[in-house]
Order: sequence, then C-alpha cells, then structure tokens
Amino acid sequence: MIYVDHAATTPVHPSVLRVMLPFYREQFANPSSLYQSADMAQKAIDDARTKIALGLNVQTNEIIFTSGGSESINTALKGVAFAQSMAGVGNKIISSTIEHHAVQHSLDYLQEFGFNIVRVPVNSDGYIEPQIVAGALDEATILVSIMLANNEVGVIEPISKIATAVRSESQLMKRRIPIHTDAVQAAGQLTINPNDLDVDLVSISAHKFRGPKGVGALYIRRGTPFLPQQNGGGQERNRRAGTENVPGIVGIGEAFELAESQRKAFVHHTKNLRDRFLNSILKNIDGAICNGPRHNRLPNNANVRFEGVDGKALLQQLAEVGIAASSGSACTTASWEPSHVLIAMGIDQDEASGSLRCTFGLDNTPDDVDTIVSYLDKIVPQLRKKREMSHA
Ligand code: PLP
Repeated sequence: MIYVDHAATTPVHPSVLRVMLPFYREQFANPSSLYQSADMAQKAIDDARTKIALGLNVQTNEIIFTSGGSESINTALKGVAFAQSMAGVGNKIISSTIEHHAVQHSLDYLQEFGFNIVRVPVNSDGYIEPQIVAGALDEATILVSIMLANNEVGVIEPISKIATAVRSESQLMKRRIPIHTDAVQAAGQLTINPNDLDVDLVSISAHKFRGPKGVGALYIRRGTPFLPQQNGGGQERNRRAGTENVPGIVGIGEAFELAESQRKAFVHHTKNLRDRFLNSILKNIDGAICNGPRHNRLPNNANVRFEGVDGKALLQQLAEVGIAASSGSACTTASWEPSHVLIAMGIDQDEASGSLRCTFGLDNTPDDVDTIVSYLDKIVPQLRKKREMSHA
C-alpha cells in the first residue's frame, strides 16, 4: 500500500508505542491513588505535560489532556463561551467558513443557546484576511476561533496578524478577547508558540503526529475565562474530570517531543514530495488545478481537482491499486458531501467533487509520488470518458 493520507491519521511511531505499553500492564495504577505505583503514573503524566509545554513554550499548568482534537476544540469553545456569557460579557463568537466540523458543529450547538456566530469568508486560496476578522468585532464579542492550518487544502492562516488586528480593534474595550486556534493539522509541521501567536487557547491531537488516537491536549492561557465542560473528579486541576488515559498521555508527550525534534527533516522531506507531486500533475494532466495556494500551505499537503472527474470513482480506482488517499477530510468521505472548504473558496460543487488530497509522511518516497502520478495519468482520462458517456 502507498499511504498518502497523513492528514487523516498517522501510524504510531514505534518508540511512542514502546513508552506507552508499560502503562497498560505493569504500571497500570490510577494516578489519583495513594501508593507508589500511582505516584509513578502521576509522574508520567507530569513528564508528558512538561514535554507538551516545552514544545509550545508555555507553562505546564496551562496544558490539559483530552480525548483528542475534537474534545479540545469543544472544551475550548464551550468552556470560554459559557464562562463569558455567565459573566455577562457578551454573546458574539467570530470564526471562519473553513473550520473543521469540530469547530463548525460546536458553534452550531452554541448558536442553539443564543450565541451569535459570525463566520468570516475566505478568499479563493482559503486565506482569511486579518482585517475582515477585526472588522467583525464589536462590544459583544467574547471569542475568536480561527484554525492555524486547514485540514483539506493545507492553507496556513495568518494567526499572529489576526491576533494583532483583534488586539488593536479591541483596545478600547479594556479586556482581552480570547482567541482559540485549531492547530490539529499544524502540529509537527509548523512552530506553534501561543505567546508569539498571541493566542489564548490551542488544540492539538496526538494521532496527527504519530501518537495514539483518542488523546489530545488543550493549551489554556492563565487567566482565560473558562468553565469546565466535563465534571466529576478533580483531575487536570478541575478543568477536565475523569481518570486519566495514562498510556495515551505518555504517548502524546513522547510523540510531540519526537515530532518537534524531527520537524525540520519532516518539512524538508514532505515539501519535496508535495512539490514533485504538484509539479508533475499540473504539467502532465490536462484540466488539473491546485486547490489552495501553491506555497502558503502545510508542507505535506497537496490537493488537486480534475475537471470532469468523479472524485469518489477516482479514489476507488486508486484504492484498487493500493493507494490510500482522500478527497478531503476523513469525516466527509463517508457521506460524500462536497467539501465545505472548497465551496467556501468559491469552487463550484461539481468541480469540488473531483478533488484529491494527498498528504505525505516521512515514510513516503519520490517513487511513491511517481507511481501515484502515473496511475492518475491513466485513470483521469478514463474516468472523464466514462462520465461523458454516462451524461450523453
Ligand atoms: N481539527 C482539524 C483541523 C482536524 O483535521 C481534525 C481531524 O481530522 C480535528 C480537528 C479533530 O481531531 P480528532 O480526530 O483528534 O478528534
């Protein structure tokens, strides 16, 4: 199999698995218990928190562990929104039209509770203008949530410029408007420094950077209004109740440290593969168009659309020869709806549905790229012909 769907998920790194395994058996204790093995489990959690905090260059007590990117995002958005509205600060939340469903659907939920959600538009590359975000701000604004990098087209958003614009627009309000960024796709590929970005909440998820599935982390800047969304025991300093997923937490700590140490090599390697792929597709296949910008995108992300091609049939044909790619985000492939990201970028529904996303990893090679391109070169004209005939 040639696996080029690293934006959907990644295989657990062997050294990550190695450090996780003892916490399922020999060191299985509940970290809240009062004996020595429990202390060891607690220490393992503390160490993992330190690794995440070091990678983000923040304080350890600003990190909480969650069950993944979706939970981090739900917790961030609902936690801030409810805290702010209880304090009577306001009810307006600003986000964008290209956020992941974890953000979009959390905002739909908040709308049911009377929050006013404003989703700013993007340009044809998926780029969000800082001034448009700042222009949407008013006295009632309690939260801004814009992703650091998009999962479908890889576009990198100007988060620090957005934060600067938000801070300057809100100067007169004499309060800090919390800014959340969904950095789930950015982790392991871009520097994520909440202080430099000037953001207050950051969501990440282990399985996107060779950690286990079902574990994530949320950075919450000290002093950010926040109401816990999961209640029970006092774990995570009362911000997220529930017996900790110790092996998973150990795994995310190790995976993040490893991803940070390999980041330069990852970026260099995957960028070469991405550019090789895009250059050769755009040169060799008629009617192929790059979705999103050529350069201001995640190094490992390539997304192209083929005019007159049914994307689902394309993916199926690739799957038959052992190529695992995607049409967009993993959650949308099951329902086969046209991607809301491509539609928000102004691409029409029919064209959007002929899209293919390849996201590369360290294990991919230039040969993988050439193999995929040569299949596409064959398959795309065949699928076009088939579709023309069925429409005739
Ligand atoms: N945000 C983005 C940008 C993503 O790509 C994903 C997963 O695809 C998520 C959030 C959700 O993360 P998780 O799968 O860990 O819940």
